[in-house]
Amino acid sequence: MDPTAPAFNRVAAPTVEHLDQRALLIRDKFSADGWLCPRCYQVNNPIDNLLYRVPAFECTNPEKCNAKCPGTVELSITDCIMNTVRTNFLIRSQGDNRNCTAHAVLAGMDAALKIEGALRGVPVLQALNGTSLLRDYHRFYPDGVGHELQREWRGYHRYEQLLRVAQAFGVEYVSPMRTITRALRLQSWFRLITRQTSLDYLVRLIANGYPLLATMEIGRWFRLAEDGQLYMGPPAEFPGNHAVLLIGSVAKQLALPNNITGQSEVVPSLLFKARNSHGSTAHRSAAQGGYGGDVYLLAQDLGPYLYGFRIETPTWMLPNAA
Ligand SMILES: [Zn+2]
Repeated sequence: MDPTAPAFNRVAAPTVEHLDQRALLIRDKFSADGWLCPRCYQVNNPIDNLLYRVPAFECTNPEKCNAKCPGTVELSITDCIMNTVRTNFLIRSQGDNRNCTAHAVLAGMDAALKIEGALRGVPVLQALNGTSLLRDYHRFYPDGVGHELQREWRGYHRYEQLLRVAQAFGVEYVSPMRTITRALRLQSWFRLITRQTSLDYLVRLIANGYPLLATMEIGRWFRLAEDGQLYMGPPAEFPGNHAVLLIGSVAKQLALPNNITGQSEVVPSLLFKARNSHGSTAHRSAAQGGYGGDVYLLAQDLGPYLYGFRIETPTWMLPNAA
């Protein structure tokens, strides 16, 4: 790494105790029904989170009965209302640029800022200025996002480099209280190894307002994937040619090909809802009149690492701000 680059290192991911505490900040929220395990009769009650109360996808019997939620449970950061403030956020477009990682980071920070505002009853109407992140990145990685010539600056390093830049310099936006430019900084960031992390913990992070930076493998049909449809990328041992932001999950019965028999069978499945950066008309939705922006994928199609972060609460949001 460039010795002058900001060297903030990752911290531990939020603990389950932290998530339980965060859930208590908001009382009124969407609450899904629990489920009775058909295999072991364990009652899987909804678990409280900041944005949603949802039951676990995998049966919580400590004996590990391995049954999965038989019903349908959906959650999305974009569908929440807290203190009368909506947490939906801008759908970004990277155009022909190869900077999907930067757009995923920006979308994540947009979402986190909306949630911090909604927690305090403050609607945030200003999107972050993506140019400021790309400009500051360029100061340390002069080839720019997506064009790094040095091998050790590419792949997952790119996410970590962007997170360090966002932590050191913040991303600019115009404060709603005064017409001056402020910067939203990251307080810290963390990394998860996808294959070693429980699906229910990932769902809890998202349901507590921690969107997750992810990668997925995309192929030629990706742009034709419509809202609500499952997209399964071409096989790759470690998928990761496109960066997206995980903002929701859907547990439901899904017909999937069995790896051994090749026959299609209906199985309880967990999909992640990912915010893409191909504009609002990509992955169009009949229900939203052609607007979309999001894709749905299985956990097995996620790349090897996921990243999350905490933002610094802007001082103008605090009740005693001058
Ligand atoms: Zn069970």
